[in-house]
This record gives sequence, C-alpha cells and structure tokens, in this order.
Amino acid sequence: MVSARYRAFLIFGAPGSGKGTQGKILGKIPRFFFFACGDVFRSIDTRTALGQQFVKYSSKGELVPDELTVEFWRLRIQQSVEAHEFKPDIDFLILDGVPRNPRQAELMQQFIDVRRVFHLSCPIREKLVARLKKRAIKDNRLDDASEQLIWRRLETYEQQCKPLLNFYPPELIVNIDATQAPIQVLMEIITYIVREKDAVISL
Ligand code: ADP
Repeated sequence: MVSARYRAFLIFGAPGSGKGTQGKILGKIPRFFFFACGDVFRSIDTRTALGQQFVKYSSKGELVPDELTVEFWRLRIQQSVEAHEFKPDIDFLILDGVPRNPRQAELMQQFIDVRRVFHLSCPIREKLVARLKKRAIKDNRLDDASEQLIWRRLETYEQQCKPLLNFYPPELIVNIDATQAPIQVLMEIITYIVREKDAVISL
C-alpha cells in the first residue's frame, strides 16, 4: 500500500494518435516523469516469461492481461522511485498507454491521483493507419508493419480501451483534436497542465 497516490496526467488515444510524441516532450520538462507502457514492454527481454507474454498478445494486436500489466507498471514505477528518477513528492507522472481500459483504471486507482485525461481524438481512422505505416519503417515497429494488424489494434482500442473515458469524471477529460500539428496539440495540453496549481512550481 502506498501512503500517497502519485499525481498523474494521462495521455489517451488510439494507436497513432500521437501519445508518445507528446509524452516524450512533456517528460523532458523538469518535475514530469514520462512512462510509456508499450515502450517499456518492448524493452523487456523476450526470453523472460513477461517478455513472452508481451510478444504473444502484441503480435495479435491484443492487450496484455490487465493484472499482469498493472503489476508490471507498479514494479517499474517503484524501481524509478527507488532510483530517484521519479520523485513522487515533487514530480507528476505522465502516463501513455496505461491505464488502457476501465479494469486497469480500477486497479490503478489506489496508486494514482489522476488530474486530467488528455484524449487525443482522431475520428478519421485512415489517418491513423497512414501514420502507423510510416512509423513501422521509422521505428522498426513490427506491430505496425501489417495493415491487418493495425486495423485489429484499432478495433481493440474501440471495443476495450475507449470505455476508459467513462471511468473518470467528465470534468477530468480533455478532448483534443489529434489531427492538429504536434505543437498545437502540445499547446493545448500544456494550457491545462499549467492550470493545475501544484504542477507549477519554480525550481
Ligand atoms: P499503440 O498505442 O500504438 O498500440 P503501444 O506501444 O502503446 O502502441 O502498445 C503496443 C502494444 O503493447 C499493445 O498493442 C499491447 O499489446 C501492449 N500494451 C501496451 N500497453 C498496454 C497496457 N496498458 N495493457 C495491455 N497491453 C498493453
């Protein structure tokens, strides 16, 4: 059990909506610690039991089981706290890709104090597919390489992930047009973050 919950901003949206692009930038700002679930999963040795589970599910465009994912997230964050990379008393978490569905949100509720959920919204699915196909080449992402797998991931997002938006109170959700230029998306996110009083402290 943790004594205080970690203050967190969630970046949420379909694959290809630009979560990682935004999260990486925000994570460079002092007092923000970025955690991208998919990236951390990809960094696991695929010979380990967890690495095998990741390959098994992600190669089908499916989600890694919830309990396993949240436990993995919790352990990784704990390690970052112990290594003094993430300082929960002064830092905010920027979470990309976790929690990813209502069950994960429920499991993580005891650990995180969610201040805002930035929903990067892109109703034009073809646009996401085009972005992901480009990313497959640039970032060597195997799960972006096949168009069939991309559509499967988008389906998983619609059916299992999108309901997460109903888990949190509506006033926490910020819908942002993800088809805008990255800098415009960033400006909108930052506008909300600076309104959060304890997120703005001078160094
Ligand atoms: P994208 O959002 O573009 O699909 P990610 O890098 O966030 O890419 O995730 C890649 C894959 O990793 C997902 O398809 C899924 O299999 C797995 N994954 C990432 N985060 C989670 C999570 N929170 N719960 C379950 N599976 C996850």
